[in-house]
Amino acid sequence: MDRRAFLRTMRTLEARDPLADWAAPMTPFEVLVSTILSQSTTVGNERRGMDGLRKAFGTVTPDALAEAPIRRIERAIWHAGLSRQKAGRIRDVARIVRGRWGGSLDGVLRRRTEAARADLVSLPGVGPKTADVVLAMAGGHPTFPVDTHVDRIARRWGLVPRTDYEATRAALEAWTPPGKRKAWHLAMIAHGRTLCKARRPRCAECPVARDCDWYRARGRRRPDKRLRSPEG
Ligand code: SF4
Repeated sequence: MDRRAFLRTMRTLEARDPLADWAAPMTPFEVLVSTILSQSTTVGNERRGMDGLRKAFGTVTPDALAEAPIRRIERAIWHAGLSRQKAGRIRDVARIVRGRWGGSLDGVLRRRTEAARADLVSLPGVGPKTADVVLAMAGGHPTFPVDTHVDRIARRWGLVPRTDYEATRAALEAWTPPGKRKAWHLAMIAHGRTLCKARRPRCAECPVARDCDWYRARGRRRPDKRLRSPEG
């Protein structure tokens, strides 16, 4: 897919899935916690985990979580899976945010993008994807977070040859106007959840199939029901 096709494709997807900003009612710390909870699980289970935290602690803040017993956090987030590991990370992050930044990520998010990213990835359990989600969704930084859907679709479109977080982010940021990165990140996720699924992508219903490298190479030769993605 070339740049012109990418821009046409993304405008189509954005029109189909206009920005639904899930982070708008949340604090930056809540966005960080929800992104940690979302690791290796579905959005539904991540939301159950956040609801569990709110129910158990009243608020999801560094003060509420920094001294909480691990077992209590674990029980609150069990829907999100990997609860022991995630509970430890969440409490560690709460302690660091409280001790290092006065209980708020606002100061971190006011820094320049690369400095803010470096601060965020210094936290336990926070890798480049989690940092970019917080930067984009909570801080308004012009990053293009690459989650599993974005990664898969970028490879199907031929933007990158293989899974490589930084290469994929760079490719998407090179072609996406800064003001569109958050909206197009969300539009790609919506596309990945609804049509461009890992298994059996619904290419026959896809509004951007004509520009899709993967479809052009494989899909047209096969009935939709038999399409398979190499990564499953
Ligand atoms: S044509 Fe198929 S593989 Fe390509 S973007 Fe659409 S759903 Fe995904």
